[in-house]
Amino acid sequence: MTPLLLCLALSLPAADEKPEPGPIRVLIIDGQNNHDWRSTTPLLKAHLEAAKIFKVDVTSHLKKGDKPGRVPTVEFPPKLTDYAVVVSNYNGAPWPEAFNKEFQERVHEGKLQVVIVHAANNSFTGWKEYNEIIGMGWRNPGFGDRLVLDADGKEVRTEKGKGRGAGHGNKHSFSLVVRDADHPVTKGMPREWMHTADELYAGMRGPIKNVKVLATSYSDKDPKKDGKGGSGEHEPMIWTVTYGKGRVFHTPMGHDTDGMRCVGFQATLQRGTEWAATGKVTLELPKNFPTKEATSVIEGGARRGGPSD
Ligand code: ZN
Repeated sequence: MTPLLLCLALSLPAADEKPEPGPIRVLIIDGQNNHDWRSTTPLLKAHLEAAKIFKVDVTSHLKKGDKPGRVPTVEFPPKLTDYAVVVSNYNGAPWPEAFNKEFQERVHEGKLQVVIVHAANNSFTGWKEYNEIIGMGWRNPGFGDRLVLDADGKEVRTEKGKGRGAGHGNKHSFSLVVRDADHPVTKGMPREWMHTADELYAGMRGPIKNVKVLATSYSDKDPKKDGKGGSGEHEPMIWTVTYGKGRVFHTPMGHDTDGMRCVGFQATLQRGTEWAATGKVTLELPKNFPTKEATSVIEGGARRGGPSD
């Protein structure tokens, strides 16, 4: 071998050696919400970055004349082709139609995956495809079906127009019960674990197509728990949706930074985002994951409450 060829041979990877994968590109969308997105987006970003497998950008669809948030942003509308997954922390005015079309098409083709956090499921009642993407959300009973699990984990559907619609009770600490322990996101989690003080969404409504419930929380009518907002049912608290070839990870947890500072929320968000992006989970559960008896809280960061819903 001539020195030149030897040099080339040494610089090329062997045929069976895959190039080192780059970080997963994540885009958080915020800028409007009936919640305090200015305090929650930095925490969502920090949670994802702590996993060390994501590169996270933020884009804000602001109301005209509104001030931006605290983290640097990329311009809205963003270049969706740059990202593997969108995390929505957005509940507000419709996005531009051309952007919606590109968004739903990319998700349907499996080129873009989606993560929905809390009030992002309140948004876009009139956008049909978005409702299919989220599976179910904060809607009136007439909007669509309702889905809960019974104590044995069997799905119970209530048809459109019957029963209650979306709501929540007092913000309080509650437990999650894993209903699918084989899914990559929930694998290894305790069967039951305590979440820090948060709103427990009940009565989600929607088209509920290709939805898989991974964990539920019991919405208790006890005045010290959900009180009047309680449903007395096991409400979906982590679920996935398949939309075309797209993967969607959805959790109604995360009303404010109190709920988001839960180690269980952080791990669920990280694993859910990795699963959405790749279909797999490599991230281990942290050693201080909450247990059936005790919550586990990440200290530090912003602490500022948001309005209700
Ligand atoms: Zn809320």
